[in-house]
Amino acid sequence: VLLGDALHTAHFSIGSGTKLAMEDSIALAEKLAFRARRARGARRVRARAQARHRRVSAGRHESRLWFENARDYVRLPPARLAYSLMTRSNRVTHESLRRATPSS
Ligand SMILES: Cc1cc2nc3c(=O)[nH]c(=O)nc-3n(C[C@H](O)[C@H](O)[C@H](O)COP(=O)(O)OP(=O)(O)OC[C@H]3O[C@@H](n4cnc5c(N)ncnc54)[C@H](O)[C@@H]3O)c2cc1C
Repeated sequence: VLLGDALHTAHFSIGSGTKLAMEDSIALAEKLAFRARRARGARRVRARAQARHRRVSAGRHESRLWFENARDYVRLPPARLAYSLMTRSNRVTHESLRRATPSS
């Protein structure tokens, strides 16, 4: 990266070379800070996406097993079948269902 006199010279008679060099430095510092913030932002977005993916895929094995054995579950009475389907992967639990429908 070139800054100051290495990048451009102002005739000393106008007395602005130092100011221009300082402004170049400030612009460079701002650019570097912006890139660092953007990189941190991108890392945060990636981490959130990975956490979401982990949450969603946590119960995939149990869910697949439930559907593979659906033949056994369809014999259940409708309410128990619905309960079994909803809680198949442990992402929805008895407790979370109770909280969502407190009157039941
Ligand atoms: C006579 C004169 C009067 C001036 N009056 C004014 C004024 O009144 N107001 C004003 O704003 N500007 C003035 N200027 C201009 C001002 O001095 C420069 O524009 C300003 O210093 C540029 O800053 P810089 O950091 O880019 O370069 P510099 O201040 O020149 O800094 C470059 C540094 O790098 C070092 N260096 C060079 N090669 C190497 C190397 N290979 N390895 C390691 N280090 C190296 C040098 O020793 C130097 O310390 C004047 C210039 C002159 C010549």
